[in-house]
Amino acid sequence: MPARVPALGAPGRTRRVWFVCDVLGIACAAGTWVLVLGAAGVLLWARLLPAGDAAYGLAHGALFHLLAFLALAAHARAVLTDPGSVPLRAAPGGPRCPLCGCAPPPRAHHCMVCGRCIRKVDHHCPWVNNCVGEDNRKYFLLFTLYAALGSLHLLLLLGVPALRAYARGDWDSRSTVTPRASLVFLLLVALKGFLFGSAMFAAQVHAVCTDRTAIERLQGERAGPGGGSKWANLKAVLGHRVSLAWISPFASPRPQRARAPLRVV
Ligand SMILES: [Zn+2]
Ligand SMILES: [Zn+2]
Repeated sequence: MPARVPALGAPGRTRRVWFVCDVLGIACAAGTWVLVLGAAGVLLWARLLPAGDAAYGLAHGALFHLLAFLALAAHARAVLTDPGSVPLRAAPGGPRCPLCGCAPPPRAHHCMVCGRCIRKVDHHCPWVNNCVGEDNRKYFLLFTLYAALGSLHLLLLLGVPALRAYARGDWDSRSTVTPRASLVFLLLVALKGFLFGSAMFAAQVHAVCTDRTAIERLQGERAGPGGGSKWANLKAVLGHRVSLAWISPFASPRPQRARAPLRVV
């Protein structure tokens, strides 16, 4: 059974430490870092440096490494942020979760991997080894955004010269030239990152704007109170003032939900 390190101290007063001890999730999350860092290194050594063009190498190297850095920062925050666990020692009364014993508020569901009830949980994602819930949704959204952008950049960087070579007739179906393993690795990482990132980003934007989680959609549950516009729903996740903080994985959105006062017993 997976263990977790949920919270240190009283909720809301002490900074929380959150890490889900699930072997499969840890392997997937670590694998994500290996792929991104590996792609950044291979791009530098196998593509940009041999090009011999300082301006070209600097521009593309800076852009890809910036996107990779932002993706990994958002990933780390998605992994290490409490997704919105319901306190185990909240006030008694009302229906209780038979698995963790908390009193879950509306729209909370129990996650078997995290072992806790999570507010507005969308799904448990092994790639971030955590639930995607009310409190870490922004970071997951940014992770998918930067993963998709970085992968798209990589695809264009590799694909455009290949198409030019094909157009010049340097390569055709009879060619015996085998692409270098490093470039095949880059291409596969870029393809996987773009397909995964763009699909997840589109799904998350849709879920955020409609204020309906994947679990609610699968179980046919009604979403929240409704009435909010798509723009209002987006601001509820990213922050109520439109600014650069929206796209920064280092800026914590301030939750606008009305928290019921906890009476710790
Ligand atoms: Zn529970
Ligand atoms: Zn979970």
